[in-house]
Amino acid sequence: MYFTGIDVGSTFSKSVICDEYGEVLGRGMLRTGADFKERAVQVLEAAKADANYPEGAPIRIIATGYGRNNIDFADGVMTEIACQAKGVFHSIPEAQTIVDIGGQDTKIVFVGSNGLVERFIVNRKCAAGTGAFLEEIARRLDKELSELAQLAQNGKGDRALSSYCTVFASSEVLDLLRRGVDIHDLARSMFLSVVARVMELATFGDKITLTGGVVANNPIVADLIREKVKGKVTVPDYAQFTAALGAAIIAKEQFQKQAKDQSAT
Ligand code: ADP
Repeated sequence: MYFTGIDVGSTFSKSVICDEYGEVLGRGMLRTGADFKERAVQVLEAAKADANYPEGAPIRIIATGYGRNNIDFADGVMTEIACQAKGVFHSIPEAQTIVDIGGQDTKIVFVGSNGLVERFIVNRKCAAGTGAFLEEIARRLDKELSELAQLAQNGKGDRALSSYCTVFASSEVLDLLRRGVDIHDLARSMFLSVVARVMELATFGDKITLTGGVVANNPIVADLIREKVKGKVTVPDYAQFTAALGAAIIAKEQFQKQAKDQSAT
């Protein structure tokens, strides 16, 4: 029996396949694009190939993420908050604050020592403090985002960009560049802006786990957060896949509970 979580995010779709013990067998990831369902099918195929899934074997699917309600072939849907908590707690079983920086939103999830969600905050109002902010600036600078993250590692200073709004921030970056400001320092300011917006959302507590594509692909973000908080900051392996992993674990737990309930009757 195979269990899969498909996280159809606003920017990237991720899939994780695990076995009946919760061991990860394979993963897939693709940019989401316009068609949620098509991308979910493709990302599942990618994870199946990675897992050496034998065609026709029984598989249970839980969908999560922004496009989850379009995945009509799934056996169920779950919120990203529940899946993040489940996926992170699976590898870090302690009370913690999960800070998930995604493509178009940021979520802060407070998890208790029992793994249950105590409360959460979602910022969906604007792109500041999300991957979209970084992607837009990289696009305006005609650079890969990963290149900017590399440049930022050698930047100096502790000042975020002065513009809050993404459109103004990318104009500000171009303007500063034309005025001779060092690109390393500018790149650092751009990442500092994201960190500042994220940290405005809540007080994080003393055990912080960072997830999502921004942190997974740009190590500077975790470094900057570490400089600003007192608590321990952890980035799990495959930090962009934690919600998909949580969905796969939920698929497994639901199936096992049903099997147990049936054998009891
Ligand atoms: P969502 O679940 O909302 O779709 P993700 O957690 O997958 O978002 O994160 C998407 C963000 O991750 C992008 O907006 C981008 O900022 C960042 N990202 C993804 N891939 C890369 C990469 N290869 N290099 C740099 N940043 C990346």
